[in-house]
Formats: sequence, C-alpha cells, structure tokens
Amino acid sequence: MNKTNGSGAPRSGRHFLQVPGPTNVPDQILGAMAQPTIDHRGPTFAALTLEIIPKLRRVFNTNDAVMIYPGSATGGWEASFTNTLSAGDKILMFDSGVFALNWKISAERFGLDIDFVPCDWRQGVDSNVIEDQLKNDAAHSIKAVMVVHNETSSGITNSIAAVREAMNSAGHPALLFVDAVSSAGSIEYLQDDWGVDVTIAGSQKGLMLPPGLSFNVISERAIAASQSSQLPKSYWSWEDLLPSNETGFFPYTPASNLFFGLREALSMLEAEGWPNIYARHARLAEATRRAVAAWGLENYCAMPEKSSNTVTAVLVPEDQSADALRAAILQRYDMSLGAGLGVLADKVFRIGHLGSFNELMLAGTLSGVEMGLDAAGIPHATGGVTAALDYLKAS
Ligand SMILES: *Cc1c(COP(=O)(O)O)cnc(C)c1O
Repeated sequence: MNKTNGSGAPRSGRHFLQVPGPTNVPDQILGAMAQPTIDHRGPTFAALTLEIIPKLRRVFNTNDAVMIYPGSATGGWEASFTNTLSAGDKILMFDSGVFALNWKISAERFGLDIDFVPCDWRQGVDSNVIEDQLKNDAAHSIKAVMVVHNETSSGITNSIAAVREAMNSAGHPALLFVDAVSSAGSIEYLQDDWGVDVTIAGSQKGLMLPPGLSFNVISERAIAASQSSQLPKSYWSWEDLLPSNETGFFPYTPASNLFFGLREALSMLEAEGWPNIYARHARLAEATRRAVAAWGLENYCAMPEKSSNTVTAVLVPEDQSADALRAAILQRYDMSLGAGLGVLADKVFRIGHLGSFNELMLAGTLSGVEMGLDAAGIPHATGGVTAALDYLKAS
C-alpha cells in the first residue's frame, strides 16, 4: 500500500483504522467485491438480493422488510422521515449526543415539530422521561419517538427495550424509530421483540463493509404510516423499493459490488455465530475499559451499565488536547482514532472496537494509545495494556 508518514517517507505494515466506523474491511470481503459488475436487471443480481435479504433480517432479528439504499446512513435518516411523516408532525427526540443532535437537525429541515428532550450526554436517554412525556400527550399528537441505540459520539448504548417498555406503559401509539448505525451487527438488536417500526443502519460499521449502503428496516405499521404521509418521496421512496424484497430488483442502479461484499459479510457473521459476535464485542470492550481505568483516564460514559461495546470515548485531562494526542499517534504509530465530535472536539478521543476485530488487534490498538499518551505528554499511569491483557487472559 502507498502510505507515507507526516514527512513523506513510506511506512511499513498495516495502518490501524480504529475509528468507530468506517471499520476494517476483511480481505475476504474486499476480494468478494473485486468481481466484474453485473447487470442489475438480470437473474444473477435478483438471486443475489434474495440471498441477502433474509440474512439481513437476521442481523435485526426481524421479519420486517429491508430497504437497501446506495447512500450513507444520514440518507437513511432522511428516508425514515420522508416516508412516514408530514410537515408539522410532532416527534419526540433526545439530546443525547452528536448523532442524536444531527438527526434532529435533519428532522427540522423537513418541517417536523420536534420536542427535543434534554439529556445528560454522559448518561444517555432516560426512559422514565419518555414515559412522562408520552403520558402528558393524551391527545396522541406525538407521531414518533426517535432514539439513537448506540451513540457513537459518547460511547453510550441506550436500552431500546426500556424505551419500548416506557411507550407501552404510557399506552401511547407513536411509532418507534431507532438509529442502529453503530450497533447493528455488533450488539444484539431485536427489532421485532422491541417493536421497532423503523431502524436505520449503514454498511461501514459492524457490517465490516466499505461505506456506501444504508438501510431502513420497516414494520407493517411504518408501511401503513407511509400511505398517509405527506412529505415528498422520490429517491428514498419505500413504495418504489418495497418490491425488491420479493423480486430482487431495484428501481434504480443499486451499489452492486457492495452487494457482493454484503453477501460475504453476512456469511462470515453467520459462520461466527451471533451469540459469539456479541460476546466478542463485549469482551474486547471490557478489556478496553480496563485499560482506560488503569491509565487513570476517564470513560466519557458515566453509567457503566450503558458502556458501549463498539466504541469507547475517553476524556483527556482538561488542560490537554485529545486532537494533539490523535495526531501524535497517527504520525508515530500509523493509527487513526476517532475524533471528539461537536462540543466534544479535542476533549475526547474515541477507540473503535467493532467489526472485524480481535484480541491482538486490540492489544496493538491499546499499545498505540499507551505509547501515544507518552509521546503527547499526557499524564497517565502505565499498565493499561497489561490490565487489558490480564482481563483477556482470564476471560
Ligand atoms: C456513523 C453514524 C451515523 C452516520 O452515518 P453516515 O454513514 O456517516 O451518514 C449516524 N448515526 C450513528 C449513531 C452513527 O454512528
């Protein structure tokens, strides 16, 4: 690979891509995509789609329809609104992190009337607040509740089961929309059990693919809502895309080579087994948190039970620069870590531990962080890597 360090000299070995998405794409998937592009109106393509759809459903534990778009997950957000809602519709969203905030900004642009519930970003979404808000809406004017499952900016996983429980105990019929962009394929996700109506996901995180695909997983209730929704629908129209689940064909050119990769990714995931995948992410995440604690640094997530198994956001001491640390690590050790986003810029760095990832990749990642803390002159205790390895050995 053609790589240079900051001064232009070539670098040896593999780059460590430890941002929380895009994630490392396994060679097997890259190989699967390196095929001649085929006719997307021909029988081979239809068979490919029809092989993918049921396996994708298993990622979300659902029997619902799966819309596959060429696009980023941000487009998947847009698809979720335009298909189901009308301008002026009231929706409940939560100020729980940068992705939740960006999702809200997108909803605003469509003229939706957003009740943006304040949250402590270090604690995530409080489902008791949801219950109260919905109980106060006796007229049922709230059309949808929208929650980010795994907030990638803060490293917090919100409980969608608790959100559903709150909605049920309020006896409120609002639709439930969930952003599962950085949890799908890594953290157990139960669309049907949780009664999720629209799930938004993307290709470049737990699914181990390059960027380029986004998904809407849509319930019967969501499809029914799309029949009366007034927002204009064109490129993102579910109605146009729904037949793909039966015929394997799309209304426009799908990202066909990514489909080859998706088929490979889904068979790799199924071969590993879903319980093993969730356990692997939980274990590598716990090892990461132990390293952070041993360094004497603070996990941005202040509620241990909500710590994300796909990403850890680490606070640097107040007088230190997280961006200078990341720059030092990139320059010296050829590793990319996630930047602090929005108001967290320069205050946290994020370690992605999701997708195609194992113990020794984590050991390398944490070693790079530990050496980088030294290089950047950030006060810390040594022994983070050792604490992580001790945990991995014992578990
Ligand atoms: C990455 C991410 C997005 C945005 O995905 P894009 O593909 O960059 O548009 C949205 N939500 C969450 C939680 C994410 O992690």
